[in-house]
Amino acid sequence: MVKIFIDPGHGGTDTGATGNGLQEKALTLQIATRIRNMLMSEYNNVSILMSRTEDQTVPLSARTTAANNWGANFYLSVHINAGGGTGYEDYTYVGTGAPTTTYQNLIHEEVVKLAGLSDRGKKQADFHVLRESVMPALLTENGFIDHAADANKLKQAAVIENIAKGHVNGLARAFNLIKKTPSAPNPPTPSPGENEDKGTNSIVDYLKSIGKDSSFNSRKALANQYGIKNYTGTAKQNTDLLNKIKNGSKPGPNPTGDMKTTSVVDYLKSIKQDASFANRKKLAAQNGINNYTGTAAQNTQLLKKLRG
Ligand SMILES: [Zn+2]
Repeated sequence: MVKIFIDPGHGGTDTGATGNGLQEKALTLQIATRIRNMLMSEYNNVSILMSRTEDQTVPLSARTTAANNWGANFYLSVHINAGGGTGYEDYTYVGTGAPTTTYQNLIHEEVVKLAGLSDRGKKQADFHVLRESVMPALLTENGFIDHAADANKLKQAAVIENIAKGHVNGLARAFNLIKKTPSAPNPPTPSPGENEDKGTNSIVDYLKSIGKDSSFNSRKALANQYGIKNYTGTAKQNTDLLNKIKNGSKPGPNPTGDMKTTSVVDYLKSIKQDASFANRKKLAAQNGINNYTGTAAQNTQLLKKLRG
């Protein structure tokens, strides 16, 4: 397992650089969060710890201590530049050589490929996070917040996505990350590993124990796949979700409805779908049944199609 510590620069009372209506702390969190999510969803042998996951004040020393105590294999700090300039650059600690500079080369190449920012080169500096982290470390500066053209790019979700993707591609090359097999959609089957904590009553602890993302959004997505609607993270929903995951009940895109009924209305109700005439007409059209008027024959045909 490759342990990557991701550090979104600044946060909380420390906004970082500001300009053109943007705050560095928000951009770094967006980019870092996307990097984490992509790594978690696309690669098998990677585990992530972040210095912050929301708008929090975290001192620099707390960041490097967290990475050091965790035993990270790599420290990635994400920043946005300011002070007159344009483009992308990244830093390793002064005097550092391989393997850190090899990682820098790979990540630099991949970010420049996708970010749509000009290339300011690979650099070295005596920054706290580079100096005080005991593992190879890289700090990336993703465009200039006080440069109008860079700032306009940073306002676009697609650019943030590409910057994150560039980091991910570089990390994947640097650490030989193994792509998950694209058996779409990836079913969240629990991988019973040595760390799997079957005893816990906490969904968050359980997900952590099997190395899965336990964020609210991730749990919401899982809940949806396991047929738990309107997940808000209540204790009951968490318990339900935990039980479903532990029991290994297969989540499915098609909720199992009433397979015995011969009424399309009852069937739709059983899978909690709108059974109104208008919706049935729409479903009928989608399934190639034209001129739906709700006859018994059409309903039977529709029911067959819906059940697959
Ligand atoms: Zn910064």
